[in-house]
Amino acid sequence: MQAPLNSETDTTTADTSGVESRIRIVLVGTQHPGNIGSAARAMKTMGLTRLVLVDPQKFPHNEADMMAAGADDVLAAAVEVQTLAEAVADCRLVLGCTARSRRVQLRELDPRTAAASVHAEAVAGGEVALVFGRERTGLENGELQLCHAAVHIPANPDYSSLNLAAAVQVLAYEVRMALLGGAAAAPVATAMPDAAPHAELEGFFAQLADTLEAIDFHKGRTPDSAMRKLRRLFVRTGLDSHEIRLLRGVLADAQRMARLAGRDPH
Ligand code: SAH
Repeated sequence: MQAPLNSETDTTTADTSGVESRIRIVLVGTQHPGNIGSAARAMKTMGLTRLVLVDPQKFPHNEADMMAAGADDVLAAAVEVQTLAEAVADCRLVLGCTARSRRVQLRELDPRTAAASVHAEAVAGGEVALVFGRERTGLENGELQLCHAAVHIPANPDYSSLNLAAAVQVLAYEVRMALLGGAAAAPVATAMPDAAPHAELEGFFAQLADTLEAIDFHKGRTPDSAMRKLRRLFVRTGLDSHEIRLLRGVLADAQRMARLAGRDPH
């Protein structure tokens, strides 16, 4: 017997429902409230509803409401936080969208590959964030460092910066195509089904930074470059919670030895 359209057995709709709810769009430091409304509209047309605003300059605002044009439910449900770290604390995959070739050394994905990763991670039960920067200055280096990979829309190299909401539309469309394609979407390596939530990884990085200080690893050099490379290394491996606990145990012992050696005043 043929299944009726729109029933539970219609895979094009049934498979995507729970998955979409694990995908959030994060807008960092948005300057023009109209762009927030336009982004909400772009999301809703593609079936995405979770909008997180990191320190928006003007919100709520009537220009946002005007541009949302029927996506006011997405705007009304938007969550506001102060930092990107808060916005992605429970995420297992965080992708940062950049208009320029990145200044931090992150793996760079095109939107289609990124969407396949988003799909794979969300289907595996992980929370996923797509992060967008400020209209004038994009994402700061420190913010990009919180991301597992960068996403660049391969636009005209001489004019590569899309309007914020247009960039959201492109990514949301690709995510929708990946969700509609279901299992047909190519699995990619950035999906990390057991990866620890972002906040755990950040806790590890903070302790790693303290430990390097305590054992005088930097010897007067600034810690930034080494930390950037170490972050990149560990983000690439997709550490799970057990591995993070193990590594933090190693760091705790190194810190203890440094204290015994009289190196670490803490
Ligand atoms: N002048 C800024 C551009 C910001 S555009 C800069 O040079 O960084 C606002 C945001 O839209 C960007 O931070 C990025 O998240 C997204 N965006 C714009 N163009 C993009 C592109 N070609 N690829 C990926 N994201 C893009």
